[in-house]
Amino acid sequence: MPEDQTTEIARDTVVAASVGEQPAALPAVVPELDLRQIKEYARVKRWCHLSGIALSLAYWIAWVSLAAGFVTWLDNGIDNRWIGLFVAALVMVGGHIVVGLPLDYYSGFVVERRFDLSNQTPWSWLVFQVKTWLVGGILAVILLGGLYGALWYGGAAWGVYVWIGMMVLSIVLAKLFPLVILPLFYPAKPLDSPTLVERLTAMARGVGMTVTGVYNLALSKDTKKANAMLAGLGSTRRVYLSDTLVGAFGEDQIAVVFAHELGHHIRRHILKMIALSAVVSSILVALIWWRLNPFTGSGVAWVGAVAAFAQVMLIATLYPLVIGPATNAVSRRFERQADRLALDLTNDPPAYRSAFDLLTRMNLADPDPPRWEEILFDDHPAMNKRIALADEWEQSRSLRGPVGTCEHTSIPQ
Ligand SMILES: [Zn+2]
Repeated sequence: MPEDQTTEIARDTVVAASVGEQPAALPAVVPELDLRQIKEYARVKRWCHLSGIALSLAYWIAWVSLAAGFVTWLDNGIDNRWIGLFVAALVMVGGHIVVGLPLDYYSGFVVERRFDLSNQTPWSWLVFQVKTWLVGGILAVILLGGLYGALWYGGAAWGVYVWIGMMVLSIVLAKLFPLVILPLFYPAKPLDSPTLVERLTAMARGVGMTVTGVYNLALSKDTKKANAMLAGLGSTRRVYLSDTLVGAFGEDQIAVVFAHELGHHIRRHILKMIALSAVVSSILVALIWWRLNPFTGSGVAWVGAVAAFAQVMLIATLYPLVIGPATNAVSRRFERQADRLALDLTNDPPAYRSAFDLLTRMNLADPDPPRWEEILFDDHPAMNKRIALADEWEQSRSLRGPVGTCEHTSIPQ
């Protein structure tokens, strides 16, 4: 099943930059820029990522050929379609987790430790994974129950119900993410710097945004990387700055990161991503409909429908790879818009550059990934391009007039 698009766009790593001024007093945790190390980290993570995709595809292709025999065998001992469905799905999805576990451990723990990015122990890594499986398991039960409930009892329009259900679920998840899901993984507390909060709140007011809070998110228990995001919908919308970011960044750099998040708000990117996911998920549902529709209705034997779950999972694995270049292009465009607005709102290119320089070094972000990788997988522009955007912005400002003519009210809605 696809990841929730809304939280995906909200989970917004502002990765970029390089040159530019350094803040006066950097904590010792921020490493010097080491391009050789950054490229090596990118290379190892790239191979982990591609290996993971290959492994998933091979796993689900194997199940497509094995599923009919396996589910027929299950049918000998199980005479309830729901029990048959959940047992089959548990074996297949559970097997996928087990098969992928060594690679997950290597990529998520060993490599992160080797490059001195992780603060986890093997135990805390495992606890994090178990939490992920529990949250994923609850969502999987809802999705699987909804999908097959619609197939067996929804009549001819079952596919429409599945699509509506997926959209409702993604909106509910986006709304609840800051309240229910995020706290399971990371504690957050209101940012405790009254002057900074006042500065950021004033910026938000200036663009007509009501933020229910600016939060300090305790990422440092797991990682040395810095991150920021805009999460939630409506009354739950809030801005999160990781404690790693707050500890290393000066107020001007934090203002740039915050302004970038405001940029997403000004351009209504969360709503636009929900609209995009409505289109993207309608194609996915059509593909699933194509494989499951022969098994509509509760009068049909359940073996065929349950065996087709392997095909559904293969589609759900392949589809993001096929649609990724399009959705990533939209996301990178939104990021560029938010970057421009961050410059408009702060009018401070040196802080913009130094903020992105810090993020680059703290996260070992590749400044110049291969073009194919950017097209296939990256939802943020490459660092060098984001720097070029600051240069471009300065040039266009010098054409527009002296500093100070750029008022917040001139920002396009
Ligand atoms: Zn962003």
